[in-house]
Amino acid sequence: MAERRLLIAGNWKMNGLRSEAVVLASDLASRLQQSGPDGVDLLLCPPATLVWAVGQVVEGSGVLLGGQDCHAEAKGAHTGDIAAPMLAEAGCGFVIVGHSERRQNHRESDPVVAAKAAAANRAGLTAIICVGETEAERDRGEAKAVVARQLAGSIPPGSSAATTVIAYEPVWAIGTGRSASIGDVAEMHAHIRVELDRHLTGALDVRILYGGSVKPGNARELLALADVDGALVGGASLVADDFWAIALSCR
Ligand code: PEP
Repeated sequence: MAERRLLIAGNWKMNGLRSEAVVLASDLASRLQQSGPDGVDLLLCPPATLVWAVGQVVEGSGVLLGGQDCHAEAKGAHTGDIAAPMLAEAGCGFVIVGHSERRQNHRESDPVVAAKAAAANRAGLTAIICVGETEAERDRGEAKAVVARQLAGSIPPGSSAATTVIAYEPVWAIGTGRSASIGDVAEMHAHIRVELDRHLTGALDVRILYGGSVKPGNARELLALADVDGALVGGASLVADDFWAIALSCR
């Protein structure tokens, strides 16, 4: 097993116009070029309209680029959607699929997420597959079963550590300021590692990110956990100082 590089991914969601996006991305790119944290990958996932502009700003800096979603097909009559090869052509190496906001707001099921991940892989992109339980599911003691079911349904056949990143994001922790407890994160990430072994090759090499109200104040503790290989960061990724502080918190 190779050492897993940590991945700090910023999910900008539906935020940012060109001028502010360029300032944020170039700020992070120049910080990374001057004194990047060792063994850490920094990834920005801007909205689709900004992928190209952000890609130009970060080119050559080491900052990686990703999309926030892709369609399961490579092209066709799908108004408003974006295809994985389009993201790849724009410079992306990653795409988030199955974010809980997509699962909830767009009724995306596990098979849909799996088809999107497969499409991403066909285009040469690493799929960041998001899983996570709702608060009601956790309260009923179903969190592990829900995540196991999502993993089973959302990881396409033929996946490997090279094509896949998992993001564990408890739905109730996203954008709420309430992060999961350190003990719960440790337990769930260990559970995910075991489950991954059933669904892909090289489970020990897969990066498992935690997401849900990660901030400079809680990042160090979370990122020190054995099976936490980085973070998927929403709100705090829109503030250069905060996102950078999270990256510097890596073990
Ligand atoms: C996310 O959108 O994936 C996320 C984790 O958001 P936040 O960090 O704002 O909770």
